[in-house]
Amino acid sequence: MKLGLVTYVPEKVEGFDIHVYYSKWSDGQVFPAANGMQNDITCFCDAKAIRENPSLVAVSKNGPALRKNRKINLAFDFVCPTNPEYRAKVFDYIKGLSKEGILGVTLNLYHFPEEEFCVCPRCVEQWRQSGLNWTEWRATTVTEFLKEAKRLVKGTFAVEMYPDPVLAKQRFGIDFERIAELVDYFHVPLSARDYTTMYWVDMLTRDFIKILKKPVVLELSAEMPTDKKLDALLKTVAYVSRHNLMGVLLLVHDSENAKQVCRFAVKNTNFRDWLTKYEFTEMIKIVDGWAKLY
Ligand SMILES: [Zn+2]
Repeated sequence: MKLGLVTYVPEKVEGFDIHVYYSKWSDGQVFPAANGMQNDITCFCDAKAIRENPSLVAVSKNGPALRKNRKINLAFDFVCPTNPEYRAKVFDYIKGLSKEGILGVTLNLYHFPEEEFCVCPRCVEQWRQSGLNWTEWRATTVTEFLKEAKRLVKGTFAVEMYPDPVLAKQRFGIDFERIAELVDYFHVPLSARDYTTMYWVDMLTRDFIKILKKPVVLELSAEMPTDKKLDALLKTVAYVSRHNLMGVLLLVHDSENAKQVCRFAVKNTNFRDWLTKYEFTEMIKIVDGWAKLY
């Protein structure tokens, strides 16, 4: 099992095999390519673009796909996924990155905000003309967007997803079967403030490995400074390392945050004894590797 990082700063850290850099954010900020890294692009969540042009927003009978709309429960502001100008902007950005020395591209938030979206006149018209039912039309729209994006990507192509293994197609138009034909691996983010309760991480990891027909990389949040939280995080990584994962990515603020996790693991004799006692072979290899560096 590989260990990697997801960061907001384009710097690699020794002791990690995969480096994912957030190059386009949901608030609308875009950054230059991070060479030698997997560049992660937020597609249809763009608070800045919607502020500048409110007609971009996805709509439902309960109102627009905005965080401030309390009739729905969204973590981001969503652009309508069929808007041709906005799609062209995302494709141009991907093209630009692919001219640089990047390792590959990961797409996130490339789907509909929820089941009742989007009923703007353009989406309704496209749905009618497709002859498909609502769920199939939305899934096809998302898959076709990914196909078009993949053609522009140089290197490794991966996607994130909203981590709902059962209803992803109905809710978001994420069709795991068809997307598996396009991607090199799936990136499953299981973000949390801490992992002191972790049964759901283990459960979703098992579910996604069973469902997804391509390698799976799990993302866990590691931007937590306390010993108790770091201990729970590292034990969670150890437990999931027993499943058939391609890797685990730790979401960190920066390289210092990543090194802090390594140093905590290396110096934590109780944790390392626990790994040995219960034979966490994969995790022992990782921590032994860190011990040579930190
Ligand atoms: Zn629409």
